[in-house]
Amino acid sequence: MFQRIGQAVKGAMLLDIAGAFGLGLKYMAKPKATVNYPFERGPQSPRFRGEHVLRRYANGEERCIACKLCEAICPANCITIEAEPRPDGSRRTTRYDIDMTRCIYCGYCQEACPVDAIVEGPNTEFATETREELFYDKDKLLENGDRWEREVARNLELDAPYR
Ligand code: SF4
Ligand code: SF4
Repeated sequence: MFQRIGQAVKGAMLLDIAGAFGLGLKYMAKPKATVNYPFERGPQSPRFRGEHVLRRYANGEERCIACKLCEAICPANCITIEAEPRPDGSRRTTRYDIDMTRCIYCGYCQEACPVDAIVEGPNTEFATETREELFYDKDKLLENGDRWEREVARNLELDAPYR
């Protein structure tokens, strides 16, 4: 009975609205907890695991030596590699596909790679309109590598003392 009367008085005096208004005023004066994405961005760790890249050496040669360790360790079975020796005897991939729709961004491929060829870069903005666009081939991965090499190399260097 008393509880109902209390609720009625509270409602009649608009105390909940006044409380919410006060809360709004309190947070209006505080620094914003949000950022104005995409014009502002929060900090990102050098270990962030985003979109995959295949890297080259400074002379343009592919780093990947087709050892297939990344393919073997991938828990989602989303990497497919085919390889054959070149005329100079070096092993290089003829096919390097990643089905990004299956990838769980665990980073195992990157950890397994002995030459830092496959790396999960800092890019998060690779949403697509179709599934097919997320079936990455070697050209797409090398293109990503060329695009993000500076950031990837910097992140690997920052993380190196802790590995
Ligand atoms: S991040 Fe994990 S799931 Fe994705 S390709 Fe690499 S090993 Fe496979
Ligand atoms: S990306 Fe690295 S781990 Fe994968 S096949 Fe190439 S060299 Fe081996």
